[in-house]
Amino acid sequence: MPGRRLVTSWGSLSLVPAALLLGLMLHGDLDPAIALPSLVIVVLSTLAFAFRFNGELGRLAADAERLARTLDLRAGQAGDLLRANETIIDQLPDPLLVLSPDGRVLRTNQAVRTAFRDELPAVLRHPALRDAIALAAAGSAQSVALSLPVPVEREVQATIMPLQSAGQLLLVLSDRTRERRVEQMRADFVANVSHELRTPLASVVGFIETLQGPAADDTPARIRFLGIMAEQAERMRRLIDDLLSLSRIELVEHEPPADRVPLADLLRRVAASFEPRLPERQTQLTLRLASDLPAIAADADQIAQVATNLIENAMKYGRVGGHVQLSLALADGPAWPAGAGLVLAVSDDGPGIPRAHLPRLTERFYRVDKARSRNAGGTGLGLAIVKHIVNRHRGHLFVESEEGKGATFSVWLPIR
Ligand code: ADP
Repeated sequence: MPGRRLVTSWGSLSLVPAALLLGLMLHGDLDPAIALPSLVIVVLSTLAFAFRFNGELGRLAADAERLARTLDLRAGQAGDLLRANETIIDQLPDPLLVLSPDGRVLRTNQAVRTAFRDELPAVLRHPALRDAIALAAAGSAQSVALSLPVPVEREVQATIMPLQSAGQLLLVLSDRTRERRVEQMRADFVANVSHELRTPLASVVGFIETLQGPAADDTPARIRFLGIMAEQAERMRRLIDDLLSLSRIELVEHEPPADRVPLADLLRRVAASFEPRLPERQTQLTLRLASDLPAIAADADQIAQVATNLIENAMKYGRVGGHVQLSLALADGPAWPAGAGLVLAVSDDGPGIPRAHLPRLTERFYRVDKARSRNAGGTGLGLAIVKHIVNRHRGHLFVESEEGKGATFSVWLPIR
C-alpha cells in the first residue's frame, strides 16, 4: 500500500536528524535535556507531516478515481452519441459525403449509395465540383449545379461545407432532376399555349387588315375571309375551353368523385349527342353496353367528357366511312388491374397509331400528325384531359393500336 510505504519512508527520513542529535548527545556536545526532547519533536513532526500528506494523497487518489470514472462515462456517452450521429447521417434522405481536404471520400451515407451507386467516381471527377471542393477546402461554403449526362440525364445540386474537424468537408448532393423537369414542362406549356393561340390570332389579324384595305369592296372575298376568321376564332375558343377544363380537372384531381353514376345510361346519352355529326365522315357508331352493371363512384360530366373526347378522336382520325364502337363491360381477366372494375372502351378501324408514339399520346399538345390534328380542329389536349379525369377516378387508361388496324382506348374504372 503506497500510503503506508510513504509513512515508513518519511519515518526513515527522520532517522538522519535523530541520529545526528543522538550522536551529539553521546559525544557530550549536546545536553540530553535538550537533545532528547528535540529528538522526540523531530520524529513526531516528521511522522505527523507524513500522515497528513498521506490523507491528502488519499483524497487526491479518490478524486482521481472519480475523475477517471467520469471520463469513462463521458467517453461511453460520446461513443453512443457518435454512433447515434452516424445512424442519423446514414438514414438522412439527402446523399451526404465526408471528404478529406484534398477531396478523397472518407464517408458516405446510405442515400449516396442508393442514388449514385457506381456513378459516384464520375460525379466526383466533375470539373465544376472539383473546383468547388478546392474553394471549400480554403474555408468558404460552395454550391454548384451539375449536369450529369450519363447513364441517364440528371441535374444535381452539390453543396460543400467545411467541417470543424481537421479540414474535412461535407458534400451534399441533391437530385434536382424532377424539379428541373417540372420547371421545363411549365415553360414548354406556356410556350405551346402561346404558339397555339398566336397562329389563329395572326390569321384573324391578317384577314382584318385585308378586309380593311384591298378587299374592302370585294364581297365574295369578304364572305370567304369571314368564314376563315370564324373558323380561327372557333379554334381559339376550343383551345381556351380545353385549357380551362384541364385546369379545373387538375384542381380536383386529388378528390375522388363521390356520386354513384349508372355509366350505361350516361354513355347512351353521349352516343345520341353524336348522331347529328356522324354523316360528316359517314361514321357508323355502335354501342355494346353490358346490362346489369353496378353504378360506380364517378363524376358524370367528366366521364361524359372522356367518352366524348375518345369518340371524337375515333371519328377524326378513323377512316371516312369507318366503324366506331363504344363499349362498357365488367373488367374480367388478367389484362386488367386487380380488383373489381368496369372497362369503357372506344375502338375504331382507322389507320391506327405507330407504336413509338403510344407512350406520349397523353402529353399536352402531343400529336402524331400535327397538320392532320389541326385540320381536324384538334387542340392536342383531348387525351391529356382524358388522362387527368381517369387519374381522378383512380382508374387507368390503356391504348392499343396496330398500324393499319385501328386503335382502341380503354378506360378501367374501379368499382368501390
Ligand atoms: P387532338 O386535339 O390533336 O386530337 P388528342 O390529345 O385528343 O389531341 O390526341 C393526340 C394525338 O393522338 C392526336 O393528334 C392524334 O395524332 C392521335 N390520336 C388520338 N386518337 C387517335 C385515333 N383514334 N387514331 C389515330 N390517332 C389518334
